[in-house]
Amino acid sequence: MSDIPMVDLKGQYNKIRKEVDSAILDAVKSGAFINGPEVAEFARELENYLSVKHVIPCANGTDALQISLMALGLKPGDEVITPSFTYIATVEVMALLGLVPKFIEVDLETFNLDVNLLEDLITPKTKAIVPVHLYGQCADMEKILKIATAHDIPVIEDTAQAIGAEYTFANGERKKAGTMGTIGCTSFFPSKNLGCYGDGGAIFTNDDELAEKIKMCANHGQSIKYHHGIIGVNSRLDTIQAAVLKVKLPYLDEYTNARNNAANYYTNRLGHLQGLTPPVTANNSTHAFHQYTIKLNGVNQGDLRNHLNSKGVSTNIYYPIPVHLQKGYSYLGYKKGDLRLTESLCKQTISLPIHTEMSDDTLDFICSTIENYINN
Ligand SMILES: *Cc1c(COP(=O)(O)O)cnc(C)c1O
Repeated sequence: MSDIPMVDLKGQYNKIRKEVDSAILDAVKSGAFINGPEVAEFARELENYLSVKHVIPCANGTDALQISLMALGLKPGDEVITPSFTYIATVEVMALLGLVPKFIEVDLETFNLDVNLLEDLITPKTKAIVPVHLYGQCADMEKILKIATAHDIPVIEDTAQAIGAEYTFANGERKKAGTMGTIGCTSFFPSKNLGCYGDGGAIFTNDDELAEKIKMCANHGQSIKYHHGIIGVNSRLDTIQAAVLKVKLPYLDEYTNARNNAANYYTNRLGHLQGLTPPVTANNSTHAFHQYTIKLNGVNQGDLRNHLNSKGVSTNIYYPIPVHLQKGYSYLGYKKGDLRLTESLCKQTISLPIHTEMSDDTLDFICSTIENYINN
């Protein structure tokens, strides 16, 4: 079997090639490279899909997070509660704005922030909570929102990995990831579940006033050209990327299903093996399986990865070093042992290949390779 990559963007493209090619060509021919009609059209279509009032496209997921914090008016010294078990972007933008990240431990089963620890981290300086819907399933939003509302603290969902996932509230109400909090942020990085062919991102909100503020922030702080009411940034989704996303959005549910099928295959084959635990899906959220991440117990992470690699199977660790132990963030004063569960997960987790084009043959080969390693 030839080498097995983590994602297969080419295979996915080949299936929608005609539609994508003509959409890109139309965008190029129109000459409207920035703010062409496709950008607003895609935003309206995504609003429909998510059932959210406002989708504001921007240049990437990192910008989406930064603009959200700016639009909420957060000031240097304000505290933001967020997990350390996340991609650096979540925290980087806080650091850039002079905000103080307060890291919260994660739940060992769902890998999302442990809501039981939330209340204790809130201080008078807490000005936002940023849950990350890690690997594709929602953090426990009902409990998070209840606590946040009681303290009047806005919630920014980092849903870069979970677009399309759905959360069910106790009263049966279902909402899409990114539409439950004050603001939702996503990324259209090519390998994300809804990826474009370059960089892209978007911000979601149901709040009309906030939506205007977000638009201003993303557009140099102006709502009238050359009148800069606030300090903003330049962050746009370009027309060609919007054209690609317009083609891909109708396939998103199909893509999520394909990811779930692959995940089910893995779990059926690997679930009973000694020494590893397949991902646990919380009962109040669907899983978009941006990553299929197993947790090892007694099996060495590096050894298993080397074995898989020697058989041509790519794997990855998301994330090998938690944010609170990254050198660039040492000024925050965290040290080893401060977030023991997060630190242990960095050493115990392995993400296996998962994407929309996985064949049963490929899945069988990966599972057999893992079975052989564990049973020998
Ligand atoms: C990918 C990602 C981001 C950043 O998105 P970019 O488009 O790469 O800037 C932020 N947070 C999480 C959790 C991500 O996975």
